[in-house]
This record gives sequence, C-alpha cells and structure tokens, in this order.
Amino acid sequence: MEIIKIKTSKKEEIIDITDKINSIVKDMKEGFINIYVKHATAAIIINENYDPNIQIDFLAMLNDIIPQGKWLHDKIDNNGAAHLKSSLIGPSETIPIKDGKLQLGTWQSVMLCEFDGPREREIIIQRCHAKTAKQDQ
Ligand code: ZN
Repeated sequence: MEIIKIKTSKKEEIIDITDKINSIVKDMKEGFINIYVKHATAAIIINENYDPNIQIDFLAMLNDIIPQGKWLHDKIDNNGAAHLKSSLIGPSETIPIKDGKLQLGTWQSVMLCEFDGPREREIIIQRCHAKTAKQDQ
C-alpha cells in the first residue's frame, strides 16, 4: 500500500494525479490498482484533462445538481454540499496495469476532486499483481 498526500489550494478544484500514480506502477508487469481517497468531502474521477474546461464544467454541473447552503448537515459544519458531491462521485477508481503502465485511454487522466478545501488529502494506492499462468504451475 502506498499513500500519496496532496495539498489542495481552493474550496473546489480538480487535480490531475496521473503522473504520481504512474510512478507507483512502473515495476508492475500485470495487475490492477485501486486509488482511494480516505475523506468524506473528496472524490476520485477518471476523465479528460486535455481541455481544462471539462473540470470547470464538471464542478459547474455538480453545483447545479447539489447547490450550496440548503442541506441539514450545513448546521453542523456548513459543508453539506461537499459531502453529497463526494457520495455521488465516489472515493475510488480501479485501473488495470500492463507492463508498468496504467491502461488509460489517450484522453483519460486520474484526478482528485476537492469539494471542501483547502486541505491536505490522503490517497491510498493498493496494488494487486496478477498471477501469470507460469506462476500458477
Ligand atoms: Zn461535514
């Protein structure tokens, strides 16, 4: 298990962590990894990062679906919308690995979603190596 720590700098932002993940899987021949953010107001997504407007659109869409300031939990620590966004998007993604590389499409990146920053976020990377037919004999 590996842990990546990311310091976010805004209330809401999306941060590409693909390079950090790639450096962790360099020595894996075949298998998969699970990328899991252990916080209730953050999430992990896979999507395009070539056009930065996709991140802006993604946050705008979530703010349309889940507006700020109308949730019961806001009475506790005023971040009800952040919890709901985190629940809707989810804390993890699993990605296959082959020959030391994430099997992402040309336009896919792995990104941390911050919904209640700025904070330091811990992301757990669990590596699972596949057994080859040779190893099974
Ligand atoms: Zn809260």
